[in-house]
Amino acid sequence: MNRSLPLILTLDQHGVPHRWVTWQQAVWYYAKERVAWELGREAFTVYGGRSHHTGERSSITANSIIAIRGKALAIKGFNQVPPLNNRELFNRDRFVCAFCGDLFSPMRLTCDHILPMSRGGRDTWMNVVTACRTCNQKKGSRTPEEARMQLLYAPYVPNRAEFLILANRRILADQMEFLRQHVSANSRINQRNVPAARATLN
Ligand SMILES: [Zn+2]
Repeated sequence: MNRSLPLILTLDQHGVPHRWVTWQQAVWYYAKERVAWELGREAFTVYGGRSHHTGERSSITANSIIAIRGKALAIKGFNQVPPLNNRELFNRDRFVCAFCGDLFSPMRLTCDHILPMSRGGRDTWMNVVTACRTCNQKKGSRTPEEARMQLLYAPYVPNRAEFLILANRRILADQMEFLRQHVSANSRINQRNVPAARATLN
């Protein structure tokens, strides 16, 4: 079985982005006739066993973007706040420390709570930024004002489409094109040079 197939983007029947599924899950949707329509430009054929009667090999071709019947919940899901994880946070902030502006590999980054949790700050997208270990330690349990460390960019809550972009490292061109249309205009994904990262990776 081919494990390296890219993930398939599912939409609800109205075309609202829903979630990534593996090709196995996509094949299941096809087999159950839950695929309402296809939108992607790519297709992947998965072969099954041979029929005892005809000797023919079964196959299912899955499209890179599929709309699933009976997924009206996606609309509600689209407006839900996506879960906060370091991976998606670092991606949101383009691996740039919010305090020194340098670019780091994920291993050298931390999640900094703008208002520290020890001071009642919450673990939410709006209260966190990406910070390098040095800056995070320097800031300690202070606010940026108290530490005299200026935030170089503002936090924001990614919408569902942006979260789907942040959560998958191998997005096909047609999937990216589709998701970008649903990303809000003030997202950092739509801003070329913000935050201004230095060219070198620390
Ligand atoms: Zn830093």
